[in-house]
Amino acid sequence: MNSPLQILNSIFGYHEFRGPQAAVIEALISGDDVLVLMPTGGGKSLCYQIPALVRDGVGIVISPLIALMQDQVSALRELGVRAGFLNSTLSSQEWWQTESALQRGELDLLYIAPERLIQPRTIELLHSLKISLFAIDEAHCVSQWGHDFRADYLKLDLLQREFPQVPRIALTATADLRTRDEIVARLQLQKAQQFISGFDRPNIQYRIAQKNNPKIQLMRFLREEQAGNSGIVYCLSRNKVEQIADWLTSEGFNALPYHAGLPATTRQQHQERFLRDDNIIMVATIAFGMGIDKPDVRFVAHLDLPKSIEAYYQETGRAGRDGEPATTLLLYGLDDVVKLRQMMAQSEGNEEFKRNEQQRLNAMLGLCEITSCRRVSLLRYFGDNPTHACGNCDCCLTPPQTWDATEAVQMALSCVYRTGQRFGAGHVIDVLRGSNNEKILSFDHHKLTTYGIGKHLSVDEWKSIFRQLVARGLLDVNSDGFGGLLLNETCRTYLRGDEKIHLRRDIKLAVSSPRKANLSKAIEAEDQSLWNALRSCRKRLAEEQGVPPYVIFHDATLREMLEFRPLTPEQLRNITGVGESKLKRFGEEFLAVLREAEYSA
Ligand code: ADP
Ligand code: ZN
Repeated sequence: MNSPLQILNSIFGYHEFRGPQAAVIEALISGDDVLVLMPTGGGKSLCYQIPALVRDGVGIVISPLIALMQDQVSALRELGVRAGFLNSTLSSQEWWQTESALQRGELDLLYIAPERLIQPRTIELLHSLKISLFAIDEAHCVSQWGHDFRADYLKLDLLQREFPQVPRIALTATADLRTRDEIVARLQLQKAQQFISGFDRPNIQYRIAQKNNPKIQLMRFLREEQAGNSGIVYCLSRNKVEQIADWLTSEGFNALPYHAGLPATTRQQHQERFLRDDNIIMVATIAFGMGIDKPDVRFVAHLDLPKSIEAYYQETGRAGRDGEPATTLLLYGLDDVVKLRQMMAQSEGNEEFKRNEQQRLNAMLGLCEITSCRRVSLLRYFGDNPTHACGNCDCCLTPPQTWDATEAVQMALSCVYRTGQRFGAGHVIDVLRGSNNEKILSFDHHKLTTYGIGKHLSVDEWKSIFRQLVARGLLDVNSDGFGGLLLNETCRTYLRGDEKIHLRRDIKLAVSSPRKANLSKAIEAEDQSLWNALRSCRKRLAEEQGVPPYVIFHDATLREMLEFRPLTPEQLRNITGVGESKLKRFGEEFLAVLREAEYSA
């Protein structure tokens, strides 16, 4: 029998196990139950795929992500693994075919939806088979507190009762302790060996920038850094989704809208195209997300502020599941802060709920305003304890400057007070800068002592000051819907100038400066034509096979081809991700592209 390492190499084309993979596989092969917590992109699938190939019988994989099953199974078949699936998308004939393949012992892996698994008929079928293991993917779906809760997952404790001899592995990327305890309790995994990794996503670059001209900022980001890549642009409202998608399309990008107001068939089509192609920009509300397991999402941009760090981490986490460099960019400004503060003040719900929401928003704002490593702050929020700054976030790459804003803050607060704590930042800034528009004249605000005292700073600079004051909770936002700013207890010492205050100096149009970390991985100009040729070869094969391009080869594999320029099958076989089956099926096609580049140069 082949060893796990031999299988890793010959079938998957990888050279070594990552992190706890080898230990997990060992435990499962020896018949133990296992609980695995690994960040997205950490390599959870191999943890059960390899044991299923080593052990006798068929491995049953339970997953709620029905939309992905077809692709997961196609990917395995491309590797030469005998895999199938059972879910509601199958016709009765396909169902019957899979069932008889199972009965003939012709499958090593079977993916199945939880609602199917728990049916008596399926249980009966499983009892007639030799089963190597059960893998419960997305195991956090048992948690009634989480947003991915699936009632059917609660019934999966039947596996333990019905098949006590079959080892089980539960996998999740959700890190919090309560969820972990719930998984153990509900799935009867008290005896399971636990493998808990941190949940850092080192390949994701985190960037947060002040929003001054979001369209230009987004466009520069897409053109200068993400040309031809797949990615998601999140917006708060349906309306804005439509606008941005239209505008991007008119600028020549492959953009599609996605929000809950679109007809189901349109949503379905857009999602399908996003999954199938390798160059679609999905402009979406947070309705787009569940089950988006596309591995080669290269960027996630937010044009509006997420409501909490949890939401931010989950949404940005959709980038770079393949472990390749990915970038996230959040643009936020004074308006976002005011709008969210208002929405929360007006929201339904009891006081405790509101306080909770406010606290989560405050944590998010804190993350936006910090001047130290963003990743350290993110990971601490979730209970990890990183010891080093990451070197792959905007604060690490271009350390922000701070300035002594004591006097300016005093002016700002005092002007809020003098104008009667009724106006939004826009008007207060006009007063500070001595504008003589009608509104100022009609309220006699040109007669105030604070009129015109802030001419030395630009409108953007004042906006940055007010944003930071609201973000830090030194100014409150009136819940009347007009965004009026109010003084509060905490601002008193600054109003009197008793205490010094330092604020972050925003970089103008800060978008594309901190690219250093990704640049080393960027495609060199002279390699661009070979890169494009490799991608179009992959695309052509993907279309022939009816699978997404990443099922043929991941980006990482194409990158290695670019770097090592293999010209013989033996050399190609050494590239990460080229196993025996793929070498046989696609090797010559890629070698032709590589030789063409070599000999025509
Ligand atoms: P997860 O399910 O944890 O999000 P996956 O199982 O999809 O992650 O793996 C993420 C990516 O890493 C996939 O492209 C997979 O092929 C790759 N991968 C996993 N294990 C290894 C390994 N040992 N060596 C190289 N690549 C790996
Ligand atoms: Zn950092």
